[in-house]
This record gives sequence, C-alpha cells and structure tokens, in this order.
Amino acid sequence: MNLTFLGTGDAVGTPKVGCSCENCTFARELSIERLRTSLLVENGGRHLLIDTSPDLRRQLLSSGSPRIDAVIWTHGHYDHYSGYGEFYRIQDPPPVYAADETLSYCAPLFSFLSFEQHRLEPYVPFTLFGLSITLFPVNHPPVPSFGVRIDSPGGSVAYTGDTRADIPAPSKELLSAADLLVLDAIVPPQIHLNKHMNSDEAARLAREAGPGDYRLVHLSHLIPWSLPHIARDGECIRFP
Ligand SMILES: [Zn+2]
Ligand SMILES: [Zn+2]
Ligand SMILES: [Zn+2]
Repeated sequence: MNLTFLGTGDAVGTPKVGCSCENCTFARELSIERLRTSLLVENGGRHLLIDTSPDLRRQLLSSGSPRIDAVIWTHGHYDHYSGYGEFYRIQDPPPVYAADETLSYCAPLFSFLSFEQHRLEPYVPFTLFGLSITLFPVNHPPVPSFGVRIDSPGGSVAYTGDTRADIPAPSKELLSAADLLVLDAIVPPQIHLNKHMNSDEAARLAREAGPGDYRLVHLSHLIPWSLPHIARDGECIRFP
C-alpha cells in the first residue's frame, strides 16, 4: 500500500488568495502550495481517492494521472467533494463510498454524471482492492463527518477527517495502534475552533493513539511551514 498526500491545505488553500502574511509570502517566494486536502491510496495497482478536492485536476496531473477506481467522501463540505465534477470526460466517474448523510447531500450536486453510490455503515469494515476499510464518525458540527481507517497486510492508516478533538470512544479506538495517523490540524495552538483541532490538540490525540508516526493535514495558511509533523503536498509514504 502507498499513500500520497495530494493536498494538505484547508478549504481556501495556501497561499490564501489576497493574503500577504509571512506563511503566504514564503509560499509564493518558493512556489509551494497547500492544495485542498485529499489522500490517494494505491494498492495492487488500484487507486482509491479519499475526498475529491476543488484542486482535483491539478492533483491528478501532478500524481501521474492515475485512473481512480473508487472515491470515499468523508463529509459534505465544499473542499472535500466539489472536485468530483473534474472526472467529466476524463474517465468513467468512479464509484463513491460514503455515509448515507454524505451521499444524500453530495450526489445530487453531480446529477450530470452517472456513478455508482455505495452507502457505508459506520464502524462496519468492508473490503476494497485488498484493503479493509472502516468509516467512523468524528465531531465536526454541524455536519456529519467521518474518519477512515485502512488496514492492509503491509500496514495501517487512520485519518481523522475534519473534526474537533472530542470524538466518540469507539472512533478513538480505531485511531489507536495505526502505523500512520493523519490528523486535521487547521490552526496554531493559540486558536480554538468549534469544529477543527488546532495543532496542539491534534498532536495530543496522536500521542494518545500512539505509537505510530503521524502527519498533520487540512492546514490553514496560519500554520508555519516549519511545524513538525506537517505533511507536504506530494509526499508519499510506502507501507511494506
Ligand atoms: Zn475541510
Ligand atoms: Zn496568509
Ligand atoms: Zn469540513
């Protein structure tokens, strides 16, 4: 199994349009970006995309134009589903797997495309491309939002999706003992939001879940480029 971070930014990306803060200026000077958060999982030559960001076209081009065999939507927020329309005239739109609430909201927005819809039951693992995948509820008011755990013979990944730190105990259990944790960390520690973790809260959750490595994603322009454990766009992690 291979995991590629196609994007690591929040809903507006970094640099933020019109912003001249230190982090955005640094990004422009180095021509680096945080596209909107999306993860590409490859196993046995099949490609699973977790969330279809508004940057999907550029993300597919920069990752070698893989044919996407399936999509998981974590929740119905613009930055996580809106790029699905980019499959138009590129490939057969891939089947989408998501919770009932997410599909009911997002699928009608793409009525110009014909695609399979698979409603997932939270906490019930299913198998896709040799991977065992489990969707689990997190806490991202006011919309239902879900994390994803993926177990393969080579290793395991758990992704929180968009969430605040207090999540249901069975969901916390699914974050534990993963080889790699991927956590929402939108802002620096001095800022507290109702629906996302700051970087300290995410690091604390990672320590509780231990002992695997972790990466922070869904980063806003307020997160410094030097923060430890931030994922970078294009970073690929291989599981033996
Ligand atoms: Zn988001
Ligand atoms: Zn900025
Ligand atoms: Zn969200």
